[in-house]
Amino acid sequence: MQKFFEPFGLRAISLRFTCSECGVEIITDSITMPIPDYGAEDIGDSYRENDYIAECENCKKNYYIYVSASYGDAYVECDEIWDEEGVEIEEIPDFDEDLLESILGNTSFYDNFNNSISALNELSKINIVDEELSSYHNKLIYSSIITCLETYLSDAFINTVLGKEMHFRKFVETFKEFNSQKFILSELYTKMDRIKDTAKKAMLDVIYHDLPKVNGMYLDTLDVKFPNFGHLQKAIMVRHDIVHRNGKTKEGNIVKIEKKEVAELIKQTSDFVTEVENQIQIL
Ligand SMILES: [Zn+2]
Repeated sequence: MQKFFEPFGLRAISLRFTCSECGVEIITDSITMPIPDYGAEDIGDSYRENDYIAECENCKKNYYIYVSASYGDAYVECDEIWDEEGVEIEEIPDFDEDLLESILGNTSFYDNFNNSISALNELSKINIVDEELSSYHNKLIYSSIITCLETYLSDAFINTVLGKEMHFRKFVETFKEFNSQKFILSELYTKMDRIKDTAKKAMLDVIYHDLPKVNGMYLDTLDVKFPNFGHLQKAIMVRHDIVHRNGKTKEGNIVKIEKKEVAELIKQTSDFVTEVENQIQIL
């Protein structure tokens, strides 16, 4: 049997079915959802699989269960189960309640951004004599500026979308990952019950430094247009080298950040966020 289900907002599933050998009911442990390859070009290439062996407690028959998920859908497969209708999928939801709560608590996202940025600005003025330490200091501040930008973009978006029904509806109707999902009419109420959670999870999962994607979301959902962000995208790449490549570029060159580059990034980020905020204010 092969049965499709909707993977969004799920940490794991558990199956309930009848043993085809002896008729006893089997309930599996929770089977963790695989994480699809979000970098894949299309849905077909994005499938990832987790497997699980269930054993009937009564007759000891083994069931080899495979759970596959793409970024559009998911299905569970098991050759030993013949009766697809008799299989119930119990969905175990997942989203980071704590993270969401902290984001929803941050309704003064613009003030918070400004406070953090001015603190970073003050820190950047400190003179450090040791050259190596000074360079390290600059890199830390540089990375933190990008983090402030990401925090602002996620908190402003999620709070604004959840704050008004019409924004929420627009988000659900335009979010790319939802476009590929279909469901049958009898699932309508279940889907409706779950739509808030599904959307929250989807918004939390977005990588907010992916500016082209985030720009599309802001535009489609809120009609907020990002100012030119080419220079910020370059800074995000530099931050990537600092954080993930231990301060070296792909080519192996050492990333060097001067004081004036930090000052420049602070200015660019502030200008960018202020322009976005001005548009959010009049929504
Ligand atoms: Zn059995």
